[in-house]
Amino acid sequence: MSDPASTAWRSDRSRPVNPVAMPGWGPALRRGLMMRCPSCGTTSAFEGYLKVRPECPHCAAPLGRVPCDDAPPYITLVIALHFIIVCMLLADFDGGMNWIVSMAIFVPLTLVVLLGMLRPVKGITLAIMLKNNMLRPVTATTNVKSADRSSGRNG
Ligand SMILES: [Zn+2]
Repeated sequence: MSDPASTAWRSDRSRPVNPVAMPGWGPALRRGLMMRCPSCGTTSAFEGYLKVRPECPHCAAPLGRVPCDDAPPYITLVIALHFIIVCMLLADFDGGMNWIVSMAIFVPLTLVVLLGMLRPVKGITLAIMLKNNMLRPVTATTNVKSADRSSGRNG
């Protein structure tokens, strides 16, 4: 009878080689925070407010294949709403603030903080995922793009 340890199935734990030359963690995170390409840092990683470029025009980093999805909005909400709640508690410490004044201050402040944080947080998320080589497979991306083109949708 054969040794059960040698025939047991093992998952493939080897990591594919990162197709992009990435800097260390410090520069990559700094470039992400500055909303630039985490690999080269010369061009913007975005082509709209939140739309990530499919590929960096300078270093050809596959930015569009990084599956950020819902992580940046989630992280932004967790950080920004904790900040807003602390501000609200400090502002209404004695309980005397009118609710209309409170709404007039904190609703716009919440919107400004959320919209201001979302893009840098997405840049950092992009840098972390690209540094860890977390990319969508090439075939899935190309299939989605060709399907979008054939149906006339843009983006
Ligand atoms: Zn680049």
